[in-house]
Amino acid sequence: MRAGQPRSEFGELVKGFVPALLTLGEHLTGAEDAFEAERAAAETLVPMLALDDFRAEMARSLAEGLAAEGGPAALAVLRMLAEFGEGADSDAASGLADGMAASGVADPPWLETLRAPVEALEFRRFSAASEPERAALVASFRRAGVDHGFLVAVDYLRCGAADLVEPVRPGELGEVVSLIGARYAEAGIDPAEEVLDPETAGRFLVGAVQASLDHMAEDGSPCGIGPDADPDSGAVLDRERARGLGALLTRRLRAAGLAGEAPKHGEHVPGGGESPNSP
Ligand SMILES: [Zn+2]
Repeated sequence: MRAGQPRSEFGELVKGFVPALLTLGEHLTGAEDAFEAERAAAETLVPMLALDDFRAEMARSLAEGLAAEGGPAALAVLRMLAEFGEGADSDAASGLADGMAASGVADPPWLETLRAPVEALEFRRFSAASEPERAALVASFRRAGVDHGFLVAVDYLRCGAADLVEPVRPGELGEVVSLIGARYAEAGIDPAEEVLDPETAGRFLVGAVQASLDHMAEDGSPCGIGPDADPDSGAVLDRERARGLGALLTRRLRAAGLAGEAPKHGEHVPGGGESPNSP
């Protein structure tokens, strides 16, 4: 949209982002593990990259601005820009990061883990006949020997959109499953628990994230539901976190070979989603 502007004006815009990103970089270099670093990066970088004004030239200028700052914090952010950016932007960030590392700047401790192969472990979906409007899913993955995952809550009345995507830290998967059981028990509900095959789970999760993104679209969603359609549901994430954590989940599914084409809006909902009681 500002293709005619000289590069220096992007430079001015980008200058505003660099200090915040260096703060993120400090957090990234001190992160306990790769998953925590990814989460922090996803929540900050993904919404920024999705901004309407944030065009390719800016991504490039920003990466160059970070490289010019130097130091491990800047390098950590460049590594994440390479991961979460797309195409040429990702390549540019990666090239600049490699240059910094070659000149002796320390890479973040989690870099190797970040690039390790991902194995999908298990996908458990919880639902209840008395609550046909919602489901919860716990997705678990293993990377570099570390199990971790996501708790995803899906709202069937809103086209199966994910209204909660919460990373589950290494070692806490069992606890999360117990917590879900306890919540149902508190409500006097005996939930149905299904173990989904990875392909079905991948399609379901990609569809849930996509439906949620569709509802946030500036130019309107295919179904007319917007992000604030149901403020009483209590679990609607703000746009930026939703975008970031949705991207993190999609990234993990992709690494496990499970992020195919997103189904049509709402079509991932079992039984079509329109009427849970239809034959
Ligand atoms: Zn919808």
